[in-house]
Amino acid sequence: MNNKINPFKNVLKKLHETTKALGLEESVYKKLSTPDAVLEKTIIITLDNGETAEFKGYRVQFNNARGPYKGGIRFHPEANLDEVKTLALLMAAKCAVANIPLGGSKGGIQVDPKSLSKDEMERLSRAWVRAFFENIGPDKDIPAPDVYTTPQIMAWMVDEYSKIAGKETPAAFTGKPLDKGGSAGREFSTSQGGYYVLRELAKKLKLKPESTTVAVQGFGNVGYHAARILHDQGFKVVAVSDSKGGICDLRSRGMDPRHIMEVKKKRGAIEGCYCVGTVCDCENYKKITNKELLELPVDVLVPAAMENQITEQNAGKIKAKAVIELANGPITPEADAMLFDRGIYVVPDILANAGGVIVSYFEWLQNLKNEHWSEKDVLTRLEKIMIKEFENIWTISKVKKIDLRSAAYILSIGRIVEAGMK
Ligand code: NAD
Repeated sequence: MNNKINPFKNVLKKLHETTKALGLEESVYKKLSTPDAVLEKTIIITLDNGETAEFKGYRVQFNNARGPYKGGIRFHPEANLDEVKTLALLMAAKCAVANIPLGGSKGGIQVDPKSLSKDEMERLSRAWVRAFFENIGPDKDIPAPDVYTTPQIMAWMVDEYSKIAGKETPAAFTGKPLDKGGSAGREFSTSQGGYYVLRELAKKLKLKPESTTVAVQGFGNVGYHAARILHDQGFKVVAVSDSKGGICDLRSRGMDPRHIMEVKKKRGAIEGCYCVGTVCDCENYKKITNKELLELPVDVLVPAAMENQITEQNAGKIKAKAVIELANGPITPEADAMLFDRGIYVVPDILANAGGVIVSYFEWLQNLKNEHWSEKDVLTRLEKIMIKEFENIWTISKVKKIDLRSAAYILSIGRIVEAGMK
């Protein structure tokens, strides 16, 4: 990641461009670019050795014009307000593109989760809920997992929330384990949504899955499931990578992501860990760097790892015909413009990876109605939304002769403004 790039400035730049394109007053941009609430609290827990430790906890509620705030909680040593604000704004835009009745928020704790025991993690998770109890809730703001927060953490959080509320309140959090009110399909919903948009784009570009080569950057929750689903749907996944590097076999009929995951697992733990076990342990393939992976002569590139991977430095070297942004913010605005000029289609994060929040919305609905939907039912509903909104942004981009990201922001910000702002 390029740390010099300020992600909040990037997303505000896009927002400003969009309000201008929509002919909105500067005052509307000001309102849209200002979070409704920026909450920062000190969270104190007792460590296993009896000492106390203090952490910074955040919740940014950006915009709830379309419904209750919705957004994950990130546990990361570098979690900071700028990052949380950026992600909260992206959540508002994402929910509006998906046309689900939710707003945008995000939370976090500045902590290295690997430095805490399981009991300490539980105490920290419960303490976050106590700190922000008054600000969240099923009708107000519904948190979910994000980087380094898991279904188990959501289970602790919803339990703490229910205790304070004095009643079982499963709809207060999403991303819970299935037996605690989680939704079928949530685990791979982001990748499944990404597959639906790639399938639709491939039809437009007349790319047949069996002759379409794909490189996937990142082999965590999103990258692995994306590679697995695309492989199962007949696309040729010819390169994958993780934080340690990548592997490729351009001549192959496609790699088997399940086999690569098995090898990676044999060498070490996977969950929430960037370093132990790596795709590079899979010996049958040529080793490449992450930089090389991005520049491979493939048809489709799927960034599914970190932000700011495609910048001014390498945008001129990208050979793919299409990029599906499963990661949040993997392309800088300057690189975005360069890719558009070169005729490369970019399906933007706010649509491409919206599958996760859409199925979170389904989880919330199931909890509110005390229902349980089958995986088939969940995926059918997800597919409908992804196809419809992909078609919408495709049409806007063709009519206005603009890139798909600009089209997605026009659709999204237009919907937020239409809903009215506080
Ligand atoms: P994860 O922690 O499960 O996996 C991240 C992967 O990225 C790991 O394989 C890691 O090795 C790899 N990685 C880390 N640094 C890298 C680097 N410099 N180069 C290449 N690979 C690197 O996280 P995830 O849940 O899969 O999320 C990945 C991205 O997708 C993030 O940008 C996240 O915000 C976004 N996203 C996730 C979801 C979701 O439902 N999980 C939803 C929307 C967006």
